[in-house]
Amino acid sequence: MLSKPGMWQTSSQPSPQVPNLDTAARDGEVPMTASSDEKFGTFNISKRHFLGGLAGAAATSVLPVWRRAEAATMYDIIVIGAGTAGMPTAIFAAERGAKVLVIDKAPITGGTLDRSTGQIAGSGTVFQKAKGIVDSADAHYADNMRINNGTADPVLTRMFVDHAGDTINWLAANGYTVRDGHPVLGGGHEDFTTPRYQWGMEGGKTIYKVMEPLFTAAVKKGNVTLALSTGAVDLIQDGKGAVVGVTCEDDAGRKQDFMGRNVVITAGGCGANPRMFQDLHGTALTTQIAYPYNVGQSILLGLSAGGYVRGGDLYNPLFGTVLADDNFPSEQASGFMSNPERRPPWEIYVNSHGERFMREDDPSVDRREHALARQPGMRMWVVFDQEMLSKAPTSFMPRWKKEKFMDAFGSHPMFAKADSLHALGVKAGVDPQGLAASVASFNAAIASGTTDPKGRAHRPVPLAKGPFYAVRMTGWTVITFAGLAVDGTLRVIRSDGSPIPNLFAAGEAIGGGATSGNAYTNGAMVTPALTFGRLLGQKMLKWKA
Ligand SMILES: Cc1cc2nc3c(=O)[nH]c(=O)nc-3n(C[C@H](O)[C@H](O)[C@H](O)COP(=O)(O)OP(=O)(O)OC[C@H]3O[C@@H](n4cnc5c(N)ncnc54)[C@H](O)[C@@H]3O)c2cc1C
Repeated sequence: MLSKPGMWQTSSQPSPQVPNLDTAARDGEVPMTASSDEKFGTFNISKRHFLGGLAGAAATSVLPVWRRAEAATMYDIIVIGAGTAGMPTAIFAAERGAKVLVIDKAPITGGTLDRSTGQIAGSGTVFQKAKGIVDSADAHYADNMRINNGTADPVLTRMFVDHAGDTINWLAANGYTVRDGHPVLGGGHEDFTTPRYQWGMEGGKTIYKVMEPLFTAAVKKGNVTLALSTGAVDLIQDGKGAVVGVTCEDDAGRKQDFMGRNVVITAGGCGANPRMFQDLHGTALTTQIAYPYNVGQSILLGLSAGGYVRGGDLYNPLFGTVLADDNFPSEQASGFMSNPERRPPWEIYVNSHGERFMREDDPSVDRREHALARQPGMRMWVVFDQEMLSKAPTSFMPRWKKEKFMDAFGSHPMFAKADSLHALGVKAGVDPQGLAASVASFNAAIASGTTDPKGRAHRPVPLAKGPFYAVRMTGWTVITFAGLAVDGTLRVIRSDGSPIPNLFAAGEAIGGGATSGNAYTNGAMVTPALTFGRLLGQKMLKWKA
């Protein structure tokens, strides 16, 4: 699957504006002057390699740098990425008295919380208690594993649900508030059986606004050193493979080694690196919504130290969206109302063969998503006729005004209109014969009052009177499913299961599949990112000066 060595570097990496290695130097670090990078492995990863013992003594070009960096500062913990998982790691480690360095490639903290919906889930929360909801970590675990078809990592899921409630209560104790009526059973994904799902008025930003003052206080206190616009480009390992530091680079290309007793990779997934995303998931990144700095450096760093990647096979698309064009990653033109409880479908859905591939009013969003995942190119067409268009009380694209929607049939590449079904198929790129056969069997079942071939219940009118219309939808995602394999204490592991000493990972760096499985399990990304960060800082990381 990792078939394109050297092709993961993105040419569209954002260029942070605020270089600060000067600041780091003022804070006691010595900017690195010598460079001894070497190409490493099949992925063209630049790796600084430190040799131990006598062999190391011969490596004169690197030793002076090592000594100067080590002499300057030895951090207890280096956190790579000041986002959803990295911020709580630093906050809690600093509370325990650790000397923490946090670096982030972006000029600001917070990472994906700037765009995440921030929906989180946990049991035993103050929000549940306020509503008299009885819940347990066991029930949360059972719900999660049901929703993700038993595909999430059971050990990591257990750890996440056991501590999720405390994470939410910690946020609440620091001012986090949720929307009226929350916690709820669900919201866009498969429902829980107990209301334990909530989010703030500003989604992920609500969470950030709670953590930011705590983080800033730790920086002001001096426990946390923050280096923004500073990206980790390499891990430093000793002769036994233990991680002992991080090589960083600012946007002016200046490098600096930072030495630490623990290194935590919380630099997100690869959702802003289409090539890496495709290599790891075997499917195109159809839209790019991820935080632009998350170009997969987490994965490269972990691989370079001996770790391995898992979870790409768990990829599952969100149900279709209208893309602006076929130049992946494409812009999203509009969403698509496919929830039959909110809008029972009048239209039929077909794939490129013209075949209906699912029951359009299937109440399970997970089944709808997996059905789409199996279609060629993750494409589907919503097909309807004039009567459906005129009589359906609401459109399946409710965010577009009717005029805009109708205009699109003359101008938008995803929209097609024709007088006959055959012509519609040709225009839309759907096999016309397959389409005709699907429509015929759909109509025949309605006419004869027999069961729909796909088991659909809501079918108010047949699809019979032209003009005919088709709108193409494509599967998409907002998360990286693949990530670094870790053990039950979040240590990055090699393929033989052995941990890489001193190296930890959390957040999307460990892959969404680890905690969300092959589904969009409610809150199973943000909550474990926060929770694992908290647990790392609070107790998992160990150090001795
Ligand atoms: C639109 C959207 C909606 C979502 N909604 C939900 C939801 O409702 N519920 C849910 O559970 N999940 C949701 N998710 C997923 C969830 O938000 C993310 O999985 C989670 O926030 C990722 O946290 P993280 O700490 O791994 O990454 P981030 O929060 O992105 O932090 C990573 C940080 O690392 C930095 N970084 C990157 N590379 C480097 C480097 N080389 N060196 C130093 N720093 C680096 C980045 O700048 C960034 O600040 C959503 C995602 C998106 C995009």
